[in-house]
Amino acid sequence: MKTTARVVIIGGGVVGCSVLYHLTKKGWSDVMLLERDQLTSGSTWHAAGGFHTLNGDPNVAMLQSYTVSLYEELERISGQSCGMHKSPGIMLADTPERMEFLKMTVARGRYLGMETEIISIKEALNYFPFIEEKYFLGALLDPNEGHLDPSGTTYAYAKAARLGGATIEVQTKVESLEQKPDGTWRVVTNKGVVECEHVVNAGGLWAREVGRMVGIELPVLAMEHMYLVTDDIPEVEAFNKSAGKEIGHVIDFGAESYLRQEGKGMVLGVYEQAGKPWSTKTTPWSFGQELLQPDLDRIAPSLEIAFKHFPTLEHAGIKRVINGPFTFAPDGNPLVGPVQGRTNFWSACGVMAGFSQGGGVGLALSNWMVDGDPGFDIWGMDVARYGDWATRTYTNAKVRENYSRRFRIRFPNEELPAGRPLQTTPLYDKFIEQGAVMGDSWGMETPLWFAPKGAEAKDIVSFHRSNDFEPIKAECKAVREAVGVTEVANFAKYEITGPGAEAWLQGLMTNTLPKKGRLQLCPMLNHQGKIIGDFTIAKADEGRFMMWGSSQAQVYHMRWFEQTLPKDGSVYITPYGMKLIGLSIAGPKSRDLLQRLTDEDVSNDAFKFMDYREMEIATVQAKINRVTYTGDLGYEIWVAPEYQRRLYESIMAAGAELGIKNFGMRALLCLRLEKNFGTWFREFRPIYGPFEAGLDRFVKLDKHEYIGKAAAIQEKQNGPKKTRIFMVVDALDCDVMGDEPIWVDGKVVGWVTSGGFGHYVNQSLAQGYIPTECFKPDMTLQIEILGERRSARLQMDPPFDPEAKRMRM
Ligand SMILES: Cc1cc2nc3c(=O)[nH]c(=O)nc-3n(C[C@H](O)[C@H](O)[C@H](O)COP(=O)(O)OP(=O)(O)OC[C@H]3O[C@@H](n4cnc5c(N)ncnc54)[C@H](O)[C@@H]3O)c2cc1C
Repeated sequence: MKTTARVVIIGGGVVGCSVLYHLTKKGWSDVMLLERDQLTSGSTWHAAGGFHTLNGDPNVAMLQSYTVSLYEELERISGQSCGMHKSPGIMLADTPERMEFLKMTVARGRYLGMETEIISIKEALNYFPFIEEKYFLGALLDPNEGHLDPSGTTYAYAKAARLGGATIEVQTKVESLEQKPDGTWRVVTNKGVVECEHVVNAGGLWAREVGRMVGIELPVLAMEHMYLVTDDIPEVEAFNKSAGKEIGHVIDFGAESYLRQEGKGMVLGVYEQAGKPWSTKTTPWSFGQELLQPDLDRIAPSLEIAFKHFPTLEHAGIKRVINGPFTFAPDGNPLVGPVQGRTNFWSACGVMAGFSQGGGVGLALSNWMVDGDPGFDIWGMDVARYGDWATRTYTNAKVRENYSRRFRIRFPNEELPAGRPLQTTPLYDKFIEQGAVMGDSWGMETPLWFAPKGAEAKDIVSFHRSNDFEPIKAECKAVREAVGVTEVANFAKYEITGPGAEAWLQGLMTNTLPKKGRLQLCPMLNHQGKIIGDFTIAKADEGRFMMWGSSQAQVYHMRWFEQTLPKDGSVYITPYGMKLIGLSIAGPKSRDLLQRLTDEDVSNDAFKFMDYREMEIATVQAKINRVTYTGDLGYEIWVAPEYQRRLYESIMAAGAELGIKNFGMRALLCLRLEKNFGTWFREFRPIYGPFEAGLDRFVKLDKHEYIGKAAAIQEKQNGPKKTRIFMVVDALDCDVMGDEPIWVDGKVVGWVTSGGFGHYVNQSLAQGYIPTECFKPDMTLQIEILGERRSARLQMDPPFDPEAKRMRM
């Protein structure tokens, strides 16, 4: 066995082999895969082999589409058959809501060039003849689906990788991992030690154990999964003969099942409600190419519905039942990328659909390792999207929930209950008492809206405007006309100190840093000049800065900061997490309110827009930013958690005669929309340049050096390819939710990033991107909402306070 390699990949399932192949394709041939048993020995060998391109996250869907398109190339290079059966897939809707979901899915796929379409049940019979028509309303047809041979495909990746110079060692178990002071690794196996620069965890069913070798607990859990293979069914053969093709794939939401042809019979797999986790604490190393005991009782409720929906199957004999484990992350998407806090340790695990996603995971990870960037927007599968709060038992609750909802639709206003409440602030019960409907924001409970007295504090889930509409309108009105208070604890907050702090921060940010006592909005770019962050920075003192960013991106940003921090120890960065939490007061009477809580002068002259102060308020030491996301006069007040309750009570008492009202996250997002403020992960993502995103004011090209500047200059010189636009939509009772296609002159040219109803300006609003060449100020557009194209027009200025006087009043 070789004793050195540039990269060691742990795990010879479909994912590890794909990463190996893609690294060789990128030109890294000194790469080695270690497999404790034989290739495919984890979950790969017993997979049903189905593949499809649809995914709730359009960026993940693109990588699935890549995976599906890769198999022909693999067969050609390796000479190994993947056993491909390409046959169209249909998703069947048995309720009006599921039909709306299918229409939305087709619309969202349009911009990605997906060829999906809505068809009638009569048409669906041409692909799947066993449907009992009376149960269904319609279907989605996806021509790019099929199934393959899981082992053949894994060996095809492996062979292609070997041809590219890679080495594979089977019967080689990695027993421990040791990092050397220079950041390289010693990989200790049962056959000796391999020294390498990078380690990739593609351990599949054992990904947690491999993670534990470097002291991390990855949020992954395996679930048992069952599918049946029927005896031959005469109707299958009859269909093949008469139609001249195989029976297509089916997903039946109602029966939580998927079906496809296998030989002259059928495969029927189930994602049942009472799903069962497997090996909840540790995966036994002794587990080999084994199956688990089937438990037909557990899937009986789903089978009953499936047999009603497809009566032909009820009489078919069962040839075999497969029950095998495979892994999931809490949201069902993979965990890919460099692991924060561990140099050169990469994750390629939690891949629940290896034959739809394995290629995309291999491509993104190899780009990342070789070029320093995944080359795509892979936030939906980035391992950095979870923090320490995603513990083993939290993951257990979420994975079970996700499994049971695999074929359920999620409404845009639907909050999922498992594992909650997890993190709460000291105001949690106070908000609940006052009718708060809570949402989950990166593991933390956040008030979304407040139900009025007498109304039930619960969302009625829907694609349409719902029971939160009027309460949110009232919250927005209170902010715009008097004063509102909202919790803003769910931000990431960092303190940066040290003699090198200013120079380091300035080298990351496109905007010049603020002077002492001032705030500045600062986008951050990667080397390719794309937006990877958007921060509010305060200069608290010489050599001391406070910085606020997206809470969801805290691990993502810490990973970047760790990579860029000077090695001489001249800069310290402290993420505050929940040690600093906040309340924001906003609205024309917010200054009056603040003044009632302090003997300091907070007049407009003394405490200006974009000022930062550290001062006492309501007897509590606070850090105060004179800025809010509402676009109104307002303040963010940050305190240690033990003081938050006192601060809130003081604000409510002093604000009573000013008409103060609680407002939640949904009102806040609506108020920011009326100002056309963008938001991280929607308008600002690593696929957009700063000029495309309209951040020109915050990007200095002639003042200082920073990462991504050369690319930003290039973007400015060449002109941005895309343009962020703001639209007023002729919506009916349903506003945009995000990812809807934008049509111009009968063609899909762009997509919506976010939107909703602007309650104070009484308009349905949307933000999105279109190619710059399409942009004309007087253009007419259409946005496809739930399958219906609604007219929209460009809105050049924010409909609320276009001259931005309110923030400065
Ligand atoms: C019943 C069933 C049906 C399925 N149907 C489908 C389907 O239709 N379509 C689809 O896309 N997916 C399906 N899947 C899921 C699919 O099997 C997985 O997505 C895929 O196998 C994940 O591959 P992997 O490489 O990540 O993990 P694994 O296949 O688990 O591979 C991990 C490998 O790492 C090795 N390993 C772990 N630790 C070490 C160590 N310390 N040293 C050396 N080697 C180590 C293991 O031996 C193993 O071979 C199904 C799964 C099951 C169980």
